[in-house]
Formats: sequence, C-alpha cells, structure tokens
Amino acid sequence: MLSPLKSTHHHAESPATEAEACIQVDDLQFTIRRSARRQTMQITVERTGELILNAPPKVGIDQLREFVSEKRFWIYTKLAEKDRLQRQVPRKEFVGGEGFLYLGRSHRLKLVDDQDAPLKLVNGRFALRHDAQAGAREHFIRWYSERARVWLSGRVADYQSRMEVAPAGVKVQDLGYRWGSCGKGDWLYFHWKTILLPARIAEYVVVHEIAHLHEPHHTPAFWLRVERAMPDYAQRMAWLAEHGIDVEGI
Ligand SMILES: [Zn+2]
Repeated sequence: MLSPLKSTHHHAESPATEAEACIQVDDLQFTIRRSARRQTMQITVERTGELILNAPPKVGIDQLREFVSEKRFWIYTKLAEKDRLQRQVPRKEFVGGEGFLYLGRSHRLKLVDDQDAPLKLVNGRFALRHDAQAGAREHFIRWYSERARVWLSGRVADYQSRMEVAPAGVKVQDLGYRWGSCGKGDWLYFHWKTILLPARIAEYVVVHEIAHLHEPHHTPAFWLRVERAMPDYAQRMAWLAEHGIDVEGI
C-alpha cells in the first residue's frame, strides 16, 4: 500500500543526549541523538520537518544508514503528510484558461458550445461543453479515471512479466490520500489522480503496487524487488513525496 503509516512519536524520551551529529542519506538529513537508555533505533519527524534519529550509544554509522534507508518510504510519507496539512491547494473553478494536469503536463481549459462529449482533450487543450460546466468536476474525474485505467493497465502489462506476477487487473477509483493499494484477488487499485503525475512517477506507483503482490509490507525484500524492476526508484519516490501535493486539488 502506498500510504502514510502511523506516527511513532514518543515524548517520554529523556532529553539528555551523549552526542549529537548529523548524517545525510540521499536527500534526507538526520540529527542523531544517542541515549544510553535506548535499545532500539527510532526516527521521529519533528513538527518543523526536522528528522531525528534516536539511537543507542554503540550503534555504528553503517547500521544507522541501513536503518534510515529501510525507513525512507515512511519518512517521505510523513514529510508529505506534514506538507499537505500546511499547504492549501486552491480548488479548481473550471473556467476558461485554467490549467489541468494530465501525465505531468498542464493543459488549458476552453469552454465550447458544441461538442459530442462533455469533456475532451483536443489539440492540447481541455474542451468542456458549456452546459457541462456545472458538473465539471465529475466530468474531469470520469475522464481522468478512464485514461488512468487504460494507461495504468498498459504499464502493468509492461512490468508484470519482468516482476514475475500476473495481477488480476487494474481498478481506478478515489483512494483518498493514497496513490495505490493492492487488494484481494491480486487486483491492483490506483487513485485516478495517478494519471495527473508525470509518466515516470506514475510508473513508480505501478511498480510499487506490483511489488506488493509479492511482499505486502515495506520490508527490505520489498524494496529490493522495486529496485530490480526500477533501479532509479528512489529519485522517483522522492519526487512524489515532494511534489505529489501539487496534483491534489482538482
Ligand atoms: Zn506500499
């Protein structure tokens, strides 16, 4: 499942620290707080977005890096969640000239009088029939959902043999704040908003969900499968965490 996980904030921790230092893993920077009372490593995301890596005194730097690396997905998700709470994405008004995303590109909206379908993408512009303006949001969601189903099914077909799975198929619906999830009977579920993302990012969402057909949780074995299918997945995952919010308001 591509979704936020539960927070693990523990405020009972003693503020006394033996040493403080920083480590950088990819584009994430952590302040290390060591405590003699600690037996396990734990990451907390502060309100400010600062990342704290709490660790027992004797854990080596390689082990810290490995731990952080395994928790990356959780961290990105937490950061994205904070961002979402702090930022208000303006809602669309469905007026002429307004931009709408489709596979990472913004297309202007044009209102038209005569058209066989309520909404179409014609010559790089979304054309919405005047009499459909009141229900514009639903028309967009229907249009996106249909495009998403076709496009995502194509990507699943590209990856499924390489990733040694045979999903039952693709379903597109509103998944709330999740991009995808894999459900019963090997069906892959995607949010219709996935089709607003740039193609290479949407492709990462696909690979992520396919990998879940083998490994339900975000274990090292899971990430190994993702990496084998998509060696640069980490960059795409980081992009999604950073910019995913921008595609959320329609
Ligand atoms: Zn997942």
